[in-house]
Amino acid sequence: MTQKDIQMGTKAVWAGEKEYLVHGATQVPVVLSVAYTYDDMDEWYDVAIGKKKGHIYGRNTNPTVQAFEDKVKILEGGEAATSFSTGMAAISNTLATFLLPGDRIVSVKDTYGGTNKIFTEFLPRQNIEVALAETGNHESIEAEVAKGCKILYLETPTNPTVKITDIERMAKAGHEVGAIVIIDNTFGTPINQNPLELGVDLVIHSATKFLGGHADALGGVLVGSHELVEQVYHYREINGATMDPMAAYLTLRGMKTLHIRVREQCKNAMALAKYLQTKELVEDVFYPGLETHPNHDIAKKQMKDFGGMLSFAVKGGVDTVRDLLPKLQYAHRAANLGAVETTVGPARTTSHVECTPEERAAMGIPEGLIRVSCGIENIEDIIADFEQAFKHVESAVKI
Ligand SMILES: *Cc1c(COP(=O)(O)O)cnc(C)c1O
Repeated sequence: MTQKDIQMGTKAVWAGEKEYLVHGATQVPVVLSVAYTYDDMDEWYDVAIGKKKGHIYGRNTNPTVQAFEDKVKILEGGEAATSFSTGMAAISNTLATFLLPGDRIVSVKDTYGGTNKIFTEFLPRQNIEVALAETGNHESIEAEVAKGCKILYLETPTNPTVKITDIERMAKAGHEVGAIVIIDNTFGTPINQNPLELGVDLVIHSATKFLGGHADALGGVLVGSHELVEQVYHYREINGATMDPMAAYLTLRGMKTLHIRVREQCKNAMALAKYLQTKELVEDVFYPGLETHPNHDIAKKQMKDFGGMLSFAVKGGVDTVRDLLPKLQYAHRAANLGAVETTVGPARTTSHVECTPEERAAMGIPEGLIRVSCGIENIEDIIADFEQAFKHVESAVKI
């Protein structure tokens, strides 16, 4: 059997681990050692210059961290992977590796809030031109790309309004001008969406979210060709945004149930989205699985399922949000997403807290927008929980 014939669930459980199992252990050990000792000076030298496999120092490589990288690499179907202390470190290190003063990058307006800050605050001051096109408007992105760019940076579905961009079409557009095409696949997850198969060059994940799945470890990861990943690895090993071995272990363990968690999260998100559409207090529901979603067809084409993230806008804006969210019993009111527990939060407090109200408005994010990361609880209980919370608020707010 080749890797391609093996199903995702089997890969999630087994992939990438074997060579790290020592002393008959069935689980990858957490290696906390910072340095590695050598009696043979020639061997030490060969490992140090990368001629021989092995480890030298924890900022460069670590066996536990490598096991995690190998698992993600196999799930995404890439040649190579490298990891980072956080998802933002993966994004900033990747961009810093390839962008030089005078270069141009094209992306979309509603990327993750931190990414958007890199585009609007940090890149311009290094004399890097950033062009942000309308999210989900393919012609507008293609027009910017056609002017030339070093990088085309995509995110789909987006945070928090789950807009969808056609990955295959954008990869083609990027390659026509010789750009490196990068995608943040955090919301997609390797279970639902494999952008390398659609022509993208580099895939980034915030491992903190769905990959880990338990909201107890920070991390980021990058997957792609040897040639590109090596360059980013080199930037990261020198600049130091290395993933911690304990975080790598927790994420690796979380990933063994990735396919099951994501399957339940998708099921729950679809059911919750349909339920929310029936509520009078709800102005709008954003979920790529709904036929009312403007790019539902593209989502259907490039995703195996529609993901665990949805958002909805309530009538009465921030005031309703303030009343509604504390009434929920089975949802953390927190900034995180992708965990086994349902998590809710206003976009203005979570994903886009770095933005001004004007910037949020420009990105099409209403102040009354609530982002929901569906957990793996029984959906009947989640819907009943929302139902009782709506009842409280509906009796208070005249609608
Ligand atoms: C959370 C998130 C990030 C940043 O990841 P951190 O691990 O928090 O640094 C990047 N992109 C998306 C889509 C995210 O949800």
